[in-house]
Amino acid sequence: MKQTQKNIAIIGSGLVGSLLAIYLRKYHHNITVFDRRPDIRGIQFSGRSINLAMSNRGWAALEAVGIASEIRKIGIPLDKRAMHVVGKEEYYQKYGKEGEAIWSISRGVLNKRMIDLAEKAGVNFRFEEKVWDIDLPEAKIYTGESEKSEWKAYQYDMVFGCDGAFSRVRHKMQRRSRFDYSQDFIDVGYKELTIPPNANGTHKLDKNSFHIWPRGKFMLIAMPNLDGSFTCTLFMPFEGEVSFEQIVSKTDAKKFFKTYFPNVSRDIENLTEDFFKNPTSAMVTMKCYPWTYWDKVALVGDSAHAVVPFYGQGMNAGFEDIYCLNNIIRKYGDDWETIFKIYQEERKPNVDAIAELSYRNFIEMSSKTADTNFLLQKKIEKHFAAKHPDKWIPVYSRVTFSNRPYAEALSIGDKQELIMKEVMQLPNITAIWDSAEVENKILDLLS
Ligand SMILES: Cc1cc2nc3c(=O)[nH]c(=O)nc-3n(C[C@H](O)[C@H](O)[C@H](O)COP(=O)(O)OP(=O)(O)OC[C@H]3O[C@@H](n4cnc5c(N)ncnc54)[C@H](O)[C@@H]3O)c2cc1C
Repeated sequence: MKQTQKNIAIIGSGLVGSLLAIYLRKYHHNITVFDRRPDIRGIQFSGRSINLAMSNRGWAALEAVGIASEIRKIGIPLDKRAMHVVGKEEYYQKYGKEGEAIWSISRGVLNKRMIDLAEKAGVNFRFEEKVWDIDLPEAKIYTGESEKSEWKAYQYDMVFGCDGAFSRVRHKMQRRSRFDYSQDFIDVGYKELTIPPNANGTHKLDKNSFHIWPRGKFMLIAMPNLDGSFTCTLFMPFEGEVSFEQIVSKTDAKKFFKTYFPNVSRDIENLTEDFFKNPTSAMVTMKCYPWTYWDKVALVGDSAHAVVPFYGQGMNAGFEDIYCLNNIIRKYGDDWETIFKIYQEERKPNVDAIAELSYRNFIEMSSKTADTNFLLQKKIEKHFAAKHPDKWIPVYSRVTFSNRPYAEALSIGDKQELIMKEVMQLPNITAIWDSAEVENKILDLLS
């Protein structure tokens, strides 16, 4: 359906804001993107590259707007996990079927490329202009130096809030009656660290793997960068026996790395330096509703739903918001009130599902990796899935390598969990876990 040209403001030039701008330009709308930050294309990153994992949902959104091949050039496919478990040789776990992979992409490089592509498509960017307030029914935004300084007002036909988990646009919506809002921080924080490349520029670890060092209540992960380095993320409780608060000196940090992560200890100087240079950050699940105001304002991406990063889906979910919104736009043309209504109704249950799955993954990683029953259950599931790939698709694959709704992945996952609960009750399950009896029991329960 055709759309009448509108003047649209997007608040936030992050990954979601810049992709949304590219999509809306396809309908020839006039788009201005505001960001409080300076233009990141002019910023020299200090050697530190923070990366993230792009999976099917993200790729689908990029493909639909014709930029996936451009973005693939800056990514590295990871087709397996490399597990670094205490007392065991490094081993690998294939992610999915042949050809299935998640992609490690530098957040900064991706964002720069997307802003370039948006600008090329005719999007106008206004950097270093922070939005302080918004008149929702009028789609009018106010920017300025500070909350107390004089503000500049801009009038638009429509405003999209893509301004992240602590969104100013949402903040204004929160003051309305019957607006639901919740935010939950977890007691684990994270810190980014780097493993530099070998002297000849090659990677020190397998570059097509997502590396994990699970250690119960804390863990280290690493993803490769194109320059041969790895970005590691250390997830650890803020307080407690092994925690960020316990590591106060370089000696503490070196001892920590040496004790728990011996196979990265040759980079101990670098890791220790990063440990004290880089901030310890918090992680939050944020939920809210509604996401839209009349046909004037809509929240997209983290401003509408922030999730903890243990499924690697935050950006993917934000990109999927745009993909879905675009399908609705194509159907309803100029009827923005209906478009916004369907958009939020369709997306809300799905992002609630990925929030739940992400949180469960956090619990799983932090408290169940040492539980022998849990590990046995996972082993049985894997064994069965390998034998009956048409009957048992693991939740991880449903989330990561499919575009079916997140809510469906959650509900099928819950059903699988009930089946496994029964299976785990079978007498002598530890001995018969790979027997025909167990296989038939699962087949029986599935039917
Ligand atoms: C440790 C960690 C690891 C992650 N790993 C993954 C992963 O592997 N895969 C994945 O899919 N997701 C991952 N995520 C999630 C992902 O980073 C976010 O979902 C994604 O960045 C959200 O994009 P966004 O554009 O909605 O928000 P943001 O990236 O937060 O961008 C918001 C933009 O709005 C601007 N802004 C904010 N307020 C204002 C204002 N008042 N006025 C003007 N501009 C403003 C900001 O400057 C910023 O540019 C991870 C998150 C974390 C914390």
